[in-house]
Amino acid sequence: MGQHLRLVISSTPIPDLQFQQLPQVYIFDQEKCEVCLRTRFQFEKPGRLHPCSSCRLAWWCSSECQKDFSKSHSKRQCDELQKTVSVDRLEVDYAIHRRSHRHLHVRTERPRTTYLPLSSISDREDYFRRIFPGFSSETKSVAGTINTYHPDPVSAVRLVATEATCFPLTVIAALEDVVPDLSVRSSLCIHVVGAGPRELYSKGILEELLHFFPMLKRLKIFFVGPETPDETADKNTNVACQYCIAKGHMRTFIYHSSPYHDFAFTADASNNRPDLIVALNTGMSEVETESWKRTIGVIRDLDVPGVFTAYTKLEAESEIRMLKGMGVRIKKGLALNKWKGVVPTTNNYLNVDEDGPIASYNSYYRYIIQGRA
Ligand SMILES: [Zn+2]
Ligand SMILES: [Zn+2]
Ligand SMILES: [Zn+2]
Repeated sequence: MGQHLRLVISSTPIPDLQFQQLPQVYIFDQEKCEVCLRTRFQFEKPGRLHPCSSCRLAWWCSSECQKDFSKSHSKRQCDELQKTVSVDRLEVDYAIHRRSHRHLHVRTERPRTTYLPLSSISDREDYFRRIFPGFSSETKSVAGTINTYHPDPVSAVRLVATEATCFPLTVIAALEDVVPDLSVRSSLCIHVVGAGPRELYSKGILEELLHFFPMLKRLKIFFVGPETPDETADKNTNVACQYCIAKGHMRTFIYHSSPYHDFAFTADASNNRPDLIVALNTGMSEVETESWKRTIGVIRDLDVPGVFTAYTKLEAESEIRMLKGMGVRIKKGLALNKWKGVVPTTNNYLNVDEDGPIASYNSYYRYIIQGRA
């Protein structure tokens, strides 16, 4: 799903969501004082907000609030928000220069010759070291092609490219959890449900799946959802890279612009039962909930595994309550996603941990469902 604005306005605690301790959790996508939480419209005279000199994405209003600003806006949060600013700046320059919305991503050049389980890789650093040693030089050379006054385009490209790996790695990790004979499988079929702009812009990076599993010859990926454009022309086109094509390997994309609960009854769906359903950052307990409930009912009755992700723990918990209410079996419970996004999203309310509120990220949490409880 694409990002969507969440407006959470409440002066009274919502016990169900355990918001009581931290009123700062009510974050909306507009400028406000980090200390008193007033927006520019809430001052008697037209209010003036002063941005943090480092990230410029957090504000204070008065000299009293300035004194407490560093308590409300921690160094850790500021560092994270600087990543957002850095990436936004680079992407705007890139779009203007290229006159396109093509996403910047960098992928491994060739398929691997041996299978190294993702579960044996500890984090992104380890991933780049063992799976993608060319990552650093590749991001450097991409940065060199962009017309920008960005003070550090290499770091920014590195962030964007790391962010893009969230999609394939989240899928690979889920496949390892649910497909027992994965290392010898020659074909895989994946249904990406509720596929929106984010998934579609970065679809090319799913080539990483073909590269990760050396035995995999046929990778078929369906993008399904109201935000998905119908692109039937692509149906049998092999979109794999030249090295994969030379090996006789094939990657195809199929698009259906209908909701999954309609798509599931088409011939295309019944002829292509998925090994895994993928639904990223759906926000289904807050947005389009009735439509999602119909989709979930269909996925439950298909009895195929589905990996779901969410920006925040609160969001994921409320989704799981909804799923349990529908008799869905939670196959793998809520956990932090090792392969979450790395660039904070600013238009979602924040994650809260022991150090206070910190930004939220794409696919920060994940869980897997299958069949009935
Ligand atoms: Zn204030
Ligand atoms: Zn800051
Ligand atoms: Zn390839």
